[in-house]
Amino acid sequence: MTSSPRVTVWNEYRHELQDAHIGAIYPEGIHGAIAAGLREHNLEVRTATLDEPEHGLTEATLAETDVLIWWGHKAHREVDDAIVERVKARVLGGMGLVVLHSGHFSKIFKSLMGTTCDLKWREGGDKERLWVVAPGHPITEGIGEYIELEEEEMYGEHFDIPVPETLVFVSWFTGGEVFRSGCCYSRGAGKIFYFRPGHETLPTYHNKEIQRVIANGVRWAAPTHQVTRNFGNRQPLEAIGR
Ligand code: ZN
Repeated sequence: MTSSPRVTVWNEYRHELQDAHIGAIYPEGIHGAIAAGLREHNLEVRTATLDEPEHGLTEATLAETDVLIWWGHKAHREVDDAIVERVKARVLGGMGLVVLHSGHFSKIFKSLMGTTCDLKWREGGDKERLWVVAPGHPITEGIGEYIELEEEEMYGEHFDIPVPETLVFVSWFTGGEVFRSGCCYSRGAGKIFYFRPGHETLPTYHNKEIQRVIANGVRWAAPTHQVTRNFGNRQPLEAIGR
């Protein structure tokens, strides 16, 4: 399709406005930091936030979006069900979706997975080491054997998700837990990448390797040319029987 996918970064944008410490880490919002990282990778990026009309996800915006990135945490329940259905229809129709960190509990991710998407967690100063377990996968391009984050929130197994079609990263934490931290799925004509890091009190989205993985995830999830999908009752292409 397009050589440079059009990206919309969606963020609930509440922590940054309500907590000065978080606002200092992300003065342009988490969406602003993610968007800046993607622009360095030559992607065409716009942003949208929860408190905009229709959460910034109008039919027109989604129609011009090849890949949607989703960050949410404390306000999942405030996302309008009708907008979730609109996004879901676009994903099933071919729009890519990259779900980050606490987005595991978003309405859109749970709806597309069909499971609780629950997990273990701890804010305790763990180091995270994300091991590449799918070397050669496009999402790992430019990344070494692993990415190390000096401090991150811990997410631990069991992560209640469907078995990923491709598992790209597995995380290890200082406290001993492990987690499937980079998971690929397809739903309908759309591709979905879940990527774990990005707790709001830490500068993770300023990390160049994390920015690269998100950019790679966008390019992987972008729609490719597809044969038109037809459904319903059909006349046979050949004479059947006698
Ligand atoms: Zn978190």
